[in-house]
Amino acid sequence: MKFFLILVFSLLVFNPCLYFVWILRFKTKITSSENRDKKSHQVLLYHKIDDRWEWGITRQKIKQFEKQMRFLYQRGFRLTSLEDGFFSFSLKEKKKIFLTFDDGYRSVYTQVLPILEKYGFSATVFLITGWIGKKNLWDFNWGREFQHLSWSQIEELKGFGFGFGSHTVNHPDLTKLNEKELEYELTDSKNALENRLGKRIDFLSYPFGKCNEKVKRIAKKAGYRCAFSICSDPDNPSDPFALGRLGMYLFDSRLTLNIKLKRTPLFWIEDMKGRIINRFANGTILFKGKPQYDYASEAEKPKSILVKKV
Ligand SMILES: [Zn+2]
Repeated sequence: MKFFLILVFSLLVFNPCLYFVWILRFKTKITSSENRDKKSHQVLLYHKIDDRWEWGITRQKIKQFEKQMRFLYQRGFRLTSLEDGFFSFSLKEKKKIFLTFDDGYRSVYTQVLPILEKYGFSATVFLITGWIGKKNLWDFNWGREFQHLSWSQIEELKGFGFGFGSHTVNHPDLTKLNEKELEYELTDSKNALENRLGKRIDFLSYPFGKCNEKVKRIAKKAGYRCAFSICSDPDNPSDPFALGRLGMYLFDSRLTLNIKLKRTPLFWIEDMKGRIINRFANGTILFKGKPQYDYASEAEKPKSILVKKV
């Protein structure tokens, strides 16, 4: 009887362990082959760097961010903007990491700039052109509203070597838009940035990381050279119009940053975390809905965007 109980107990305890180890090995194998292409570029993604509390998790605290930057600096990494050689990147540049910020929050100017300056780093900021200088009312605010960068702050950042890309006009789920609305979101934001900054805008970041074949086609037509999602398509990780990035969130530390960058065997956990967080972004889409486009213009293209609560 005693032997039987020990046997049952052993099966109950060890079987899940063996299963876990098997999953780990299996996933590791996939991850390492999957990431051979991804290793060509390391692109980090942050959103807001702010100590003020909110329910959301796309924020990082100022000290937390500073520790991660110091950690990378001390290990000889150089963080830079996409404009600084993204297209000419070679695998020899092992210590080069591209740094991006989505949404263009004011904290990029107030908190990020002094930290990056200290280490000689720079970054690319993806701006929502319809919301420059305004509060983030396009978002489902998790208990707090955040201010976006103003044009004068953007111009100052440009003077410090920051680069800029489009994150559309209104931050909609692009997969829910028709062709005209897509053209408006992708072309108008590109033109607004080019006219104001006097530079060609090559990079696009999809709101909520969401895209499909139609979105990619219109992004190419609008003249972008590549576009970023959050997690890359596992079937085609090197598609220039669906490039993945390593998302950094509230609970990320130097340890998880290291796992993400080195693609250690635990990378699949980080990858899965990113995909789950991406799913949560659907909350904003659900609560805020689609922007209301006004088709009253003669050219039959949306001339203005009416968004509730502006
Ligand atoms: Zn965004």
